[in-house]
Amino acid sequence: MRLVDGTFLLSLLLLTLRLPGPEAVRSFGDGTHQSDAAMDLNSSNFDSVLKESPANFAIVEFFAHWCPACRNYKPHYEKVARLFNGPDAVHPGIVLMVRVDCAMKINMKLCNRFSVGYYPMLLWGPPIKFVAGKWTPKQDKSEIQSIENGRTADLLLDWINKKIGSSFSFDDEKYENENSLSKNASDSEQQIARAIYDVEEATALAFDIIIQHKMIKPSNQAPLIKFLQLLVAHHPSKRCRRGIADLLVNFDDLWPSGPLPVSSAESSILQEEEILKSYPICGKDVPRHYWIFCRGSKNDTRGVSCGLWILFHSLSVRVRDGESQLLFMAICDFVQNFFVCDDCRRHFYEMSSRISLPFNTSRDLSIWLWRAHNQVNERLMKEEKDLGTGDPIFPKVTWPPKQLCPSCYVSSSRKSSGNKQIDWNQDEVYKFLIRYYGTTLVSSYKDATLSSNRNDESYDMTSSTNSVAVPVGAALAIALASCTFGALACFWRAQQKSRKYLHQLHSLKDI
Ligand SMILES: Cc1cc2nc3c(=O)[nH]c(=O)nc-3n(C[C@H](O)[C@H](O)[C@H](O)COP(=O)(O)OP(=O)(O)OC[C@H]3O[C@@H](n4cnc5c(N)ncnc54)[C@H](O)[C@@H]3O)c2cc1C
Repeated sequence: MRLVDGTFLLSLLLLTLRLPGPEAVRSFGDGTHQSDAAMDLNSSNFDSVLKESPANFAIVEFFAHWCPACRNYKPHYEKVARLFNGPDAVHPGIVLMVRVDCAMKINMKLCNRFSVGYYPMLLWGPPIKFVAGKWTPKQDKSEIQSIENGRTADLLLDWINKKIGSSFSFDDEKYENENSLSKNASDSEQQIARAIYDVEEATALAFDIIIQHKMIKPSNQAPLIKFLQLLVAHHPSKRCRRGIADLLVNFDDLWPSGPLPVSSAESSILQEEEILKSYPICGKDVPRHYWIFCRGSKNDTRGVSCGLWILFHSLSVRVRDGESQLLFMAICDFVQNFFVCDDCRRHFYEMSSRISLPFNTSRDLSIWLWRAHNQVNERLMKEEKDLGTGDPIFPKVTWPPKQLCPSCYVSSSRKSSGNKQIDWNQDEVYKFLIRYYGTTLVSSYKDATLSSNRNDESYDMTSSTNSVAVPVGAALAIALASCTFGALACFWRAQQKSRKYLHQLHSLKDI
């Protein structure tokens, strides 16, 4: 059975159907209730939406609701926006398209900031450049520029294609856009920087599934709390760290460990939805319902499981040596209790059960996880080829491929079975993992788009805290207490019952 089995898909489908869409959607004026693809923004949310957008570029249309030319232009702008915006977009995460109604008093200052002199007026630039930014027609060096020739959908799309060297077309179909996808073998370090959005997406989706499907039981609360603690300390996204800390502080109220009062099915569904609304663990706009780095070329490939792998790898290079065994146990428990894929659970359990000594260093854990992931890749390479179930654009590879990390390879040859035999330089692999999942997952993205905005909070992830909410002493005690996985698990679980985590959370400096 593949990861994307019926149950898992059903879960995701249910989730997608039940979650509210983006806030800023508006109905067409023609009486139908189709949502607009371009987002209506105003001065109160303009900066925050542009700041948090994963898109590389943004187009802002300044219009006035009373202007007839603007009304006629709307279907053209919408036609282009449907290609790029929202979960149904053919090319999500590339161009964010928004509009601002300058006829509304609240937007007066905002429109003045961008020297709006006629309607509709279109500006183009990296989203972050619009945040607290301004523009004047005479500004030569600005990264924001006016789109002069975008008065029909075709003209606007042509302009975009010329600007970014793409060949997007209105005939493009979702998941048949090979050119706009990255390939596994060439996952460049720039691409992994954008995977931060997918780590957020996977984190939020995983917890939405857990909460919606009432998966939290008294028996698995302790391991979940442990995993959450490690996320609060080391999740690569600052806003996820914050959101998870918030959830953790209120965990006992949300899921009391004693017997729950009997309630009707309906009221308990409402309760779960309330939790999701009140604790958007990676910010209120996440999940966004589309993937960037982890986007497959078919609708049932990649996504959540890709995002979770990246989360696990990024945690493994971030923890301190003293936390490596705790992280190992927390990941194992998380997969066992909350990853809704039977095969994945079983295989991961088999691999982790072969570990007989506790991990003493984060290097050992990172290397183990990298090897475990490669074992899964190698098994799936064959399975997906035989069954034709893989993603044709993203075939499984033994990772990292040579072009990504030449120094990781001492030698490689083909065995008589046809399989590759690779002699790895593990020191180089570890260095590469630290760079790829540690520094780059955070900072290249920041350098590329946020260098001008050093006060940005959502993505200041260089500083995932090193102070830990979990008792490191307990980890050492665990290591001494037992040499076997099973014994460690029992001991560790027993430790959880003491539940010291809440008091220690307050000492976290950099949530
Ligand atoms: C814990 C876990 C166990 C799983 N077990 C199974 C299973 O038993 N059966 C099954 O059908 N599916 C399993 N899956 C799903 C499967 O591994 C893939 O996640 C899924 O097929 C999507 O593949 P992908 O192409 O997005 O690449 P993924 O394998 O998800 O990898 C995501 C990204 O990680 C990077 N990467 C690849 N290999 C490595 C590596 N060795 N070390 C570090 N980084 C790497 C690459 O950049 C890649 O694009 C599991 C997923 C998880 C999280």
